[in-house]
Amino acid sequence: MADLSAELQDGVLERFLRYVRIDTTSDQDSETYPSTAKQRELGALLEGELRELGLDDVELTEHGYVFATLPGSVGPTVGLIAHMDTSQDELGANVDPQVVRNWDGSDIVLPRDSDKVLRADENPILAARVGHDIITTDGTTLLGADDKAGVAEIMGAVAYLAAHPEIEHAPIRIGFTVDEEVGRGVDHFDIDAFGAVVAYTLDGAEVGRIDDETFSASEVRIRIEGLSVHPGTSKGKMVNAIKLGARLIERLPQGERSPETTEGRHGFVHPHRFTGTTAEAELRFIARDFDASNLEAHEQLLRRLADELAAEEPSARITVTVEEQYRNMKEFLDRDPSVADAADEAARRVGVEPWREPIRGGTDGAMLSARGLLTPNIYTGGQQFHSVLEWASVQDMALSAATIVELVKLWAEPEWASRARGACARSGASPR
Ligand SMILES: [Zn+2]
Repeated sequence: MADLSAELQDGVLERFLRYVRIDTTSDQDSETYPSTAKQRELGALLEGELRELGLDDVELTEHGYVFATLPGSVGPTVGLIAHMDTSQDELGANVDPQVVRNWDGSDIVLPRDSDKVLRADENPILAARVGHDIITTDGTTLLGADDKAGVAEIMGAVAYLAAHPEIEHAPIRIGFTVDEEVGRGVDHFDIDAFGAVVAYTLDGAEVGRIDDETFSASEVRIRIEGLSVHPGTSKGKMVNAIKLGARLIERLPQGERSPETTEGRHGFVHPHRFTGTTAEAELRFIARDFDASNLEAHEQLLRRLADELAAEEPSARITVTVEEQYRNMKEFLDRDPSVADAADEAARRVGVEPWREPIRGGTDGAMLSARGLLTPNIYTGGQQFHSVLEWASVQDMALSAATIVELVKLWAEPEWASRARGACARSGASPR
């Protein structure tokens, strides 16, 4: 198995270095889709490369998605999904990746900002990768391993399979998406047209980690209408919406149920935006939890605080709206454990011991799973996402690509293919 990942290594590295140089930063405030036109540049490059590899049904859609098919001999159609956009948290233009070959364990000083240093003693995952080839930024941008590592690994895996037609594998559908980082990655993703029976996002981090569990998430908006009167003559009349909002914030639980006081399996309510005037104010919260009833309790907490405030200031008008954002994908994946189990087994076949850990966030797969396409998340080998200290190990990326190859081979085996028929029956999908 070490042979397979060694064989994939150069191709994955070469692709990765090409993709990260293209700026694909998405934009939270944009109202277009994709949110930035430049994401299509990478889409067009990938479209061309997929055609060159001889894949079928290659298309760059009006929404900026890239789709393609690699036919297989037998088994369920397996979707492989990664996102092309990168986060706004750091600059995504002029990315100049650095490759430290056969890293010796010493400090890696990033060349264009000597204050930015990757140190083994601060970074146990890095410390365990002495002897690897480490890709870093130049210190002024993010790297974009989130998620161009996933893109490069899928491309590397299908290039390998396209060049080795003698290898039996399940049919593959590729889906490269846009705008994942702004929470709109699958807004226009047509699951029926995609036609996969099971799918995987390649959008995780440490090698071995398979994600089958995400937060359940909602946004809660509390709107406060006060009464604005000229401050010189407002005695007994003015109701200041800003002060009411501040009072509510002050009553949030202290020392618990917040992002800054929780980890692991504990959820939270989190005010992330407060806008307003004397006359009216709006508080926006996100609520997050792994457990649906806890999430509801977080929402109820905010409703109760709003009710209290309304009782204290009857002349203010306070309204609460709750919008569901995504659900814990475990709820759906548990209906067919074979989908995540197959990823575990593929990891073992490349010599990696898999483990599960809940993600304190969401993935495109969480939304796809809720819509009927079961989609756990697989490691890419990228680390410290959304940061100028982002890095990736070439050997880890090659292991991820090898995992993909093993995964689609495995789904063509009679034992696994018959399990997929169960998945089909449950999801209502029909194998292509
Ligand atoms: Zn990502």
